[in-house]
Amino acid sequence: MAESRSLPLYGGIEAGGTKFNCIIAGGPDHIVSEARFPTTTPQETLAQVIHFFRSAQQPLRAIGIGSFGPVDPDPASPTFGYITSTPKLAWQNTDFAGAIRRALNVPIAFDTDVNAAAFGEYMWGAARGLRTFVYYTIGTGIGGGGMAEGRLMHGLIHPEMGHVRLPHDWASDPFAGVCPFHGDCFEGLASGPAIAQRWGADPATLPPQHGAWQLEAHYIALAVVNTICVLSPQRIILGGGVMEQAFLFPMIRSEVQRLLNGYIVHRAILEDIDNYITPPALGGRAGVLGAVALAQRLAVSASS
Ligand code: ADP
Ligand code: ZN
Repeated sequence: MAESRSLPLYGGIEAGGTKFNCIIAGGPDHIVSEARFPTTTPQETLAQVIHFFRSAQQPLRAIGIGSFGPVDPDPASPTFGYITSTPKLAWQNTDFAGAIRRALNVPIAFDTDVNAAAFGEYMWGAARGLRTFVYYTIGTGIGGGGMAEGRLMHGLIHPEMGHVRLPHDWASDPFAGVCPFHGDCFEGLASGPAIAQRWGADPATLPPQHGAWQLEAHYIALAVVNTICVLSPQRIILGGGVMEQAFLFPMIRSEVQRLLNGYIVHRAILEDIDNYITPPALGGRAGVLGAVALAQRLAVSASS
């Protein structure tokens, strides 16, 4: 259709520790094509990503990237758009945004995977109309991003909510954790690989009654409570592969209420917690559509 072809199109890349999701879209209601590639080496994976975008039938106005990290999200920095000190060794010091820009010759918006997903939820999903909220991904890694007072959170670099320290009862959970930097930080204790190693099984195969999930809900609730205390977010969105286990949501909500113990007096937590701790409204596309939203914002700000 000539009409839809004239709509501006954007690229979105959600770079995760296990897979890269790519999309060509005008927005959530106008998805032209999608692809998924395994995260192997930068050479191999980025070549597949570039090949996918070269197949676009019309020029893209911009490409947005939401990446696992740590990354450098500061446009004024010489290493803007790099993945920096990641535990994924092959990806350390990778000029991710630069490689995509040089190959495809389009403007690149770049942020963390969780800030991208948060921005997608802000534009089109569960965070519409909010000014302060958090988006967590619980997947191969754990990360958190979001907005404070209407702006995506950056700072010295960017938040690293997956590496906060949580109370760890070694007697009931003797697992040492999988984080190569910290051992038993939040990601070390509660990421998908942590569940897999602790229990010796693929987390997707563990039944709802398995003890893994009470422990998982406890760790996620501890992190959520810390975030509530630090930032006073208006909503907390939990995404990522592990949260595909939807029965975790009620477990996390009641554990958050138990841990807060009535201290934060607001109906959102006391009476309406089902709408306070929620899955992403964009589902598994939150990250990749968020990357599209970042690209759109960049293109609009450049043309105004
Ligand atoms: P990425 O980290 O690449 O963004 P995901 O968010 O899907 O990708 O996270 C992958 C991790 O989530 C893996 O550790 C995997 O074991 C776990 N995972 C994926 N699907 C499920 C599921 N249905 N239930 C529990 N864990 C899952
Ligand atoms: Zn850590």
